[in-house]
Amino acid sequence: LSSSLLPPLPSFLLFHPPTWEEVSGYDENLNTIRTYQVCNVFEPSQNNWLLTTYVDRRAAQRVYVEIRFTVRDCASIPSVLGSCKETFNLYYLESDHSLSEGRGVEYWTTAPFLKVDTIAADESFSQVDFGGRLMKVNTEVRSFGPLSRGRGFHLAFQDLGACMSLLAVRVFYKKCPSVVQNFAFFPETLTGAESTSLVIARGSCIASAEELDVPIKLYCNGDGEWMVPIGSCSCKAGYEPDKANVCQACPQGTFKSFQGAGLCQQCPPNSLSTAEAATLCGCRNGYYRGDVDKPEDTCVPSAPRNLVSVVNETSVVLEWSPPRDTGHRGDLVYNVLCRRCHSSERRTCQSCEDSVAFSPGRRGLRGDHVEISKLRAHTAYTFDVQAINGVSNKSPYPAQQLSINITTNQAAPSLVPIMHQVSSTSRSFSLSWPPPEQPNGIILDYEIRFYDKLSAGVNSSVVQSGGPGAVLEGLRPGTGYLVQVRARTVAGYGAFSKEMLFHTLTDGKREEDRRGVGGKKNGFGRVCEVILLLLGYRRRQLKESVYGDKLQQYTTGGEAPTVTFPTMSDGHSSPGVKIYIDPFTYEDPNEAVHEFAKEIDPNCVKIEEVLGAGEFGEVYKGRLKLVGKKEFPVAIKTLKAGYSERQRRDFLSEASIMGQFDQPNIIRLEGVVTKSRPTMIITEFMENGALDSFLRRNDGTFPVIQLVGMLRGIASGMRYLAEMSYVHRDLAARNILVNSNLVCKVSDFGLSRYLEEDTSDPTYTSSLGGKIPVRWTAPEAIAYRKFTSASDVWSYGIVTWEVMSYGERPYWDMSNQDVINAIEQDFRLPAPMDCPLVLHQLMLDCWQKDRNARPKFPDLVSMLDKMIRNPWSRTTPSPHALLDRGAPDLSSVSSVEDWLSALKMTQYRDSFVGSGINSLSLITQLTTEDLQRLGVSLAGHQKKILTSVQSMRDHIDDQSPTESL
Ligand code: AMP
Repeated sequence: LSSSLLPPLPSFLLFHPPTWEEVSGYDENLNTIRTYQVCNVFEPSQNNWLLTTYVDRRAAQRVYVEIRFTVRDCASIPSVLGSCKETFNLYYLESDHSLSEGRGVEYWTTAPFLKVDTIAADESFSQVDFGGRLMKVNTEVRSFGPLSRGRGFHLAFQDLGACMSLLAVRVFYKKCPSVVQNFAFFPETLTGAESTSLVIARGSCIASAEELDVPIKLYCNGDGEWMVPIGSCSCKAGYEPDKANVCQACPQGTFKSFQGAGLCQQCPPNSLSTAEAATLCGCRNGYYRGDVDKPEDTCVPSAPRNLVSVVNETSVVLEWSPPRDTGHRGDLVYNVLCRRCHSSERRTCQSCEDSVAFSPGRRGLRGDHVEISKLRAHTAYTFDVQAINGVSNKSPYPAQQLSINITTNQAAPSLVPIMHQVSSTSRSFSLSWPPPEQPNGIILDYEIRFYDKLSAGVNSSVVQSGGPGAVLEGLRPGTGYLVQVRARTVAGYGAFSKEMLFHTLTDGKREEDRRGVGGKKNGFGRVCEVILLLLGYRRRQLKESVYGDKLQQYTTGGEAPTVTFPTMSDGHSSPGVKIYIDPFTYEDPNEAVHEFAKEIDPNCVKIEEVLGAGEFGEVYKGRLKLVGKKEFPVAIKTLKAGYSERQRRDFLSEASIMGQFDQPNIIRLEGVVTKSRPTMIITEFMENGALDSFLRRNDGTFPVIQLVGMLRGIASGMRYLAEMSYVHRDLAARNILVNSNLVCKVSDFGLSRYLEEDTSDPTYTSSLGGKIPVRWTAPEAIAYRKFTSASDVWSYGIVTWEVMSYGERPYWDMSNQDVINAIEQDFRLPAPMDCPLVLHQLMLDCWQKDRNARPKFPDLVSMLDKMIRNPWSRTTPSPHALLDRGAPDLSSVSSVEDWLSALKMTQYRDSFVGSGINSLSLITQLTTEDLQRLGVSLAGHQKKILTSVQSMRDHIDDQSPTESL
């Protein structure tokens, strides 16, 4: 209850005649007060009015009057009249303003006063005695309303003949005070006109609170009390109620996700709130909560723990423990990711082949282990085990994972999947088969086991074959034979394939009828044709779009205009150029070695450290000190102990081949050690090792022009080999070596074979079957072994792709068979990232199906030279063209001697001729290092010669059609 006093009354207005008197008196505590008294009890017909000044009602509709008064008991007054009263009347008169100004008694006697009540004393007293004796003071309260007709009112006290004193009059109204209740604020509200009235007050939510139900109301009753709350507010999300009916912001590290009465809670695991009033705790990096998850839910699981591996040959079992935080959900599963890695200094990895098998699976594993099989032998892998739940895929961060590195062991080759009958006679049949899916090494040979079906395996025969095909002879006519085959690598034999039944012809049938397509006599030729048939079959099965996500389809040949590249042979293959001699044409291979390679005294060779493993034994770094020369670094290839005579012959054949070459972009042979053990091949040392791993180590670090420079070197080396009619057959970035000046040199002549197709030795030819580097090899070479310089150009295109993609594996993880099929269907590798279009066009030119349409190596060299000279614009003149103006006229120069005279450098003639620089085509390949070797050490001379070399190259290029660039 709250009440309010109206302002103190300044005075009462006394009527005339002044029957009420203002006198000093005492209250019950004997304090002096002013009172109004009237006591006309000895005269009849009294009607005495006491009027208050104007009272502003201040919007109050009901006003209360508390009157403190004393009344004399009529009976106690001697000889009082019968008209003596012990009561008085209370009146009020509403108006908008004070009515007291200038109004006489007449006005007041007729004014429309409304009576409130007749007030009687509860107590009266018999004797007026202010001398400290008991005084009976009455207090009465009356109220009146509704007040509506004016801003205020006058009160009037009517005395009809009593003897009384008014000690005090308090005038007030009642209101409900402003209040905060149910998180809503209600303003001060005056009570209604009647004491029973209920006045509605609308509430408004306090700060950080929101309406829960509307409308929000409280009722103010006639006594100034709030009652009947309706609706309420409550603290909004991020705020909690505190005792004092306010909404407090959630402190940091806590949150409240909903509106209402609850309190702030600690952030769930793996989440945090960094500011006050959080409605949600954000997941920490690497964790995520799904849309349908509750804010109090834990974020997605953390990584699994305790990942262990057990490697068994080419399988591995991985086991792990569940993550510490499994997330709140019941749907925790594991995914296993597999990457195959190069175990060089910096592990570079690519995703595993599709053929890798996961048991029970690679995704959605509920258990804590997986067995992974069909991995490659001797290969490094990285496995990532991820803990995933239903919301992980929404995570912007990678799933939490634990990784493990393993290396597989040596393993035997996997099964040969199928065999095909190529042809049959009454006494023999010829079979072919694809290599096992997992050779796990280089296949040395195959073993074929077969027996007459009727003998039930009692008399089985075994034959060996160097390649994926064999002719079984000495068979009985019209008989069924069950045949199995298995492959052998250094790790031993794989398991035998499933038995397959093949029949010989019955006697008398014409053999030709049963021969394979083409009916070539040569067993190998037939094998090839079957391979072709198989490819054709696969092709029809595969939809064209299968490769579309990785490769692009390019139409070549007849449909699209192609650029033809007239050979440069007139300019390059001058009659003086040597022709390469196949060491295998020598009856005694030692003779070939000594023809082409210098025998070195092993005492001149110092072995320092292992560089890597070659096909026949370790490769070392070492130093060579030849008599009369400075010691210099070399690479030393060794033949490991226990070799066969054939292995020694193959090993040394590389030296015999290398020794025939002398060109700055071909690895240079220093010599061989054959007269003592170990047998060694000693070559110049290439500080940066193999190009593929060198690029992977330096991913993205070279300007394009530098890569083009490296490619130019390789093309130049290949041009030289092609000129010598040498076909490399295994041109790939892994077989290019890089020295400290980033000069690239072609190496690895182990697999390389002579230009003409060698059909004289079928055993040897088919032994290549498992060795074809499919991704690098032209389709005609895969299909029917048509290895030519044009197929080397195809490989050169792949090398260009490898270089521009910094050592990416061509066709990534596609299987060999898919690569073959894709190429057949005109799919080609797309341009690597950041590769200029002209270079990709060069690759596509190299990959034309029609090998005659491919550019020749001299074309490639001049294309690349043109790019180097004039890299970014085809129209601006080459800076070298400007340099040429001051250069000597070379138009009449036709020999090295002429050229040196034109340059006034004849002092170097002997050195040039002595080093075999005897043709202008060799001059165009000279580099600074070559000049140093030739004894041209003065920088000015080097510059003069190299400027001339460049202008000669330009001269040649300007005559070659390179408009496609
Ligand atoms: P290869 O069997 O010829 O491929 O040699 C095996 C590895 O030995 C190569 O991948 C190179 O890393 C390294 N290697 C071979 N020849 C040289 C060389 N001349 N200079 C430096 N490293 C070499």
